[in-house]
Amino acid sequence: MDQMDCVVIGAGVVGLAVARALALEGREVMVLEAANAIGTGTSSRNSEVIHAGIYYAPGSLKARLCVEGKQLLYDYCAERGIAHQRCGKLIVATSEAQAAELPGIVAKAAANGVHDLVLLTREQAQVMEPQLACVAAVHSPGTGIVDSHALMLALQGDLEAAAGVVALNSPLAHAQCGPEAIILVADDGTELAATTVVNAAGLQAPALAARFAGLDASLVPRSYYAKGSYFTLSGRSPFSRLIYPVPEPGHHLAGLGVHLTLDLGGQAKFGPDVQWVDSPEDLLVDAARGDAFYAEVRRYWPALADGALAPGYAGIRPKIQPAGAPAADFLIQGPESHGVSGLVNLFGIESPGLTSSLAIARHVAGLLKG
Ligand SMILES: Cc1cc2nc3c(=O)[nH]c(=O)nc-3n(C[C@H](O)[C@H](O)[C@H](O)COP(=O)(O)OP(=O)(O)OC[C@H]3O[C@@H](n4cnc5c(N)ncnc54)[C@H](O)[C@@H]3O)c2cc1C
Repeated sequence: MDQMDCVVIGAGVVGLAVARALALEGREVMVLEAANAIGTGTSSRNSEVIHAGIYYAPGSLKARLCVEGKQLLYDYCAERGIAHQRCGKLIVATSEAQAAELPGIVAKAAANGVHDLVLLTREQAQVMEPQLACVAAVHSPGTGIVDSHALMLALQGDLEAAAGVVALNSPLAHAQCGPEAIILVADDGTELAATTVVNAAGLQAPALAARFAGLDASLVPRSYYAKGSYFTLSGRSPFSRLIYPVPEPGHHLAGLGVHLTLDLGGQAKFGPDVQWVDSPEDLLVDAARGDAFYAEVRRYWPALADGALAPGYAGIRPKIQPAGAPAADFLIQGPESHGVSGLVNLFGIESPGLTSSLAIARHVAGLLKG
């Protein structure tokens, strides 16, 4: 049987970042990826936003790793010439009730170590974005956008420069956890013994962990899937910053609200909404959902013309709590939590997972050092 020091399952942005971090420590690393290319999962179906770290519960992994990851990501993009833009975002209140929530958002961000938010009056916001309708707003200058595929290619490049490898078309079927090594069995029956295994299989991470013999199954969360659909705007973007409504928990479109994000080519898209689905493969965008988008977007951009939105793409959030339950934190289980030497499971790595990827990698490397 072949032997390997570290095996990372999944070549999404998180798996690649973890593999890179371990390889830069001088360890022998292989990434097993089921698909025929890197980054074809959730990592290529998101908003590509570098989140500031505003909304997450203070002290949570999401808050800590987002704030740390944001800085690491901006530095890495600058160092490696990865396309990105610190374009900033506005959180816009469209009613007096929402405006009353803005100071609380600023305070929560400060508790997370994000101290650059600025409260704006309607007039100040409209100077920045003349097409915006709002009562008041918050400006987050530290929010940005990144070319997520260029990021993943850079991570893969660093991994390979440090003698790591990515094995495509290599789905892992199951594993056997032992005291000396974890025996990995691929779909084609090939076996590989590894001393360190990181399960970064995204939407499949819980199902895969449930097939690790010797791992306490009661620690593996159940998977739930929350689809987020986007609608793209034809023509030029009316805004040069990202525009987010004040989040309304329990709203039928939920999430962070139907927000406007920009890509690096200046194309605007709205979304993602939230639709709980039964399958992680359910990626079609239902054109009928567009009606709700028009209504939501016109609350902050009344000039949105009929027919201007077209179905775009969808991504699925790897949830570990059901609809209606409070949002769960990232669940990162190392040997200290499940007792299996050399194993780390990454569950529920939804947003801000892209922003946090380099910090998650650092965290995982730390767990493996004990
Ligand atoms: C709609 C949406 C919008 C988002 N927007 C943002 C955002 O703007 N900013 C942000 O920071 N985050 C955002 N996120 C979150 C971010 O996209 C994810 O946290 C991140 O991409 C997760 O990366 P990953 O590597 O864990 O998972 P994935 O990218 O899903 O990678 C997992 C990989 O594992 C592989 N795999 C699965 N099973 C196996 C197996 N058995 N064997 C081998 N390989 C396997 C898959 O093929 C896949 O390539 C968003 C998420 C969604 C759904």
